[in-house]
Amino acid sequence: MAEVTVKVPAPLRSFLDGRTEVRLAGATIGGVVHQLAEAHPALRKRLLGPEGRLRNSVALYLNDEDVRNLQRDETPLKDGDVVSIVAAVAGGSVGGSPRRARAPRSRANSTKTGAATMGPEELRRYSRHILLPEVGLAGQNKLRQGKVLLVGAGGLGAPAALYLAAAGVGELGLVDFDSVDPSNLQRQVLYTTSDVGRPKLTAARARLEALNPGVRVVPHEARLSSENALEILEPYDIVVDGTDNFPTRYLINDACVLLGKPTVYGSIYRFEGQVSVFDARRGPCYRCLYPEPPPPDLVPSCAEAGVLGVLPGLIGILQATETLKLILGIGEPLVGRLLLYDALSLSFRELKLRKNPHCVLCSSHPTQTTLIDYPAFCGVPAGTEREGPGVPEIEPEELARALEGSHPPFVIDVREPKEWEMGHLRQAHLIPKDELPQRLDELTHAREVVLYCRSGHRSAASTRLLLDLGFTNVRNLKGGINAWAERIDPSLPQY
Ligand SMILES: [Zn+2]
Repeated sequence: MAEVTVKVPAPLRSFLDGRTEVRLAGATIGGVVHQLAEAHPALRKRLLGPEGRLRNSVALYLNDEDVRNLQRDETPLKDGDVVSIVAAVAGGSVGGSPRRARAPRSRANSTKTGAATMGPEELRRYSRHILLPEVGLAGQNKLRQGKVLLVGAGGLGAPAALYLAAAGVGELGLVDFDSVDPSNLQRQVLYTTSDVGRPKLTAARARLEALNPGVRVVPHEARLSSENALEILEPYDIVVDGTDNFPTRYLINDACVLLGKPTVYGSIYRFEGQVSVFDARRGPCYRCLYPEPPPPDLVPSCAEAGVLGVLPGLIGILQATETLKLILGIGEPLVGRLLLYDALSLSFRELKLRKNPHCVLCSSHPTQTTLIDYPAFCGVPAGTEREGPGVPEIEPEELARALEGSHPPFVIDVREPKEWEMGHLRQAHLIPKDELPQRLDELTHAREVVLYCRSGHRSAASTRLLLDLGFTNVRNLKGGINAWAERIDPSLPQY
């Protein structure tokens, strides 16, 4: 038996009383992971699939090596080893309702000129670049000819776009379909208070062109899908992934592998971020790391999880750094390396990523050669939260009437305590979603039970759970507390 330290990623810490690491004794990696899963049943389904095997959405590292490159579950342990659980994290910009897609732009004006000349104004603007021997006039011309697509103009895309525009990258494409919401302003530094309600791309374009009129900003007001992804990505040299959801993340990865382009990957969760460069021509792709997305009901969106506002700033700027290095062809890109950042301990860690010789997408014998229909594959459409199938629902107006009646329903708020503090229904009882299975004795079969969360997705899963446990009179509040705030009680905040 060896004494080892198991490092726990932020999304799983709530199941271990907030601990960042645990000390365990075991002979093999598999033994230690099963020991952890058995000791914490709520953790079990996040680590292990139905057959008791490690989920594909979880990567395990022994020290800085992926155990898939060692002896997998059978990898032996020795005293002092560090086992890292690295969970797939989607965080980035926060999605919203889709807007009408715009027709693809004409590519007639996107010519590449060879020996571009620079006037005195440009020489002055870029002088601090030109002074660098690694950049110089030739490098600045490469930047001017560079074409970068940012998918997501949110927390990660905002700082990345600002710095890439300032640096003089010639063409910046932006993919987003959202409008500026007041809750974006805490971190999405492209936007100002007066932009609230405007389409993000309109506001972003004005801001970036004001910063640098020499940059061509190309808006793609669309939701990336298996139908449009190849067409939108094709004209660009590099794709910066600033999305917040797994369907779009896999779509970007798969399209980039098929088109032979690098993806500059970034993701955030609460206080932690990840950065890497996936370029299947010379290293692994995202699917080599996580062959499949985690089940949708186990993934908190950024809107539910919260994020320290400065975190996407740092991660987005690291993505911009890697993008500039790729265009300039300088330095060591983060190919084959996953950088992990923890803001609370202010520490960076780096893990090796290897190309998976059996990757369904980027190996020498791929079994996936087209884009998958991701919304169906991942269970929820990108950027949206949807009620589960067949869960009975109640409209806010009907609930308001029922609460005034002689047999008011028992109302359960399944959100987290911090969300409850921002505001809740007066008659509600707080039972967070993950605690519900242990607190069934607080419920009654005698009254109707109505559950709600922020937008109706989490509470739909809880409604399904109660129905499966034999409760018959259970309904989900349609649209969650946001719909209630909009239609019944405007004193409550929408978020
Ligand atoms: Zn791969």
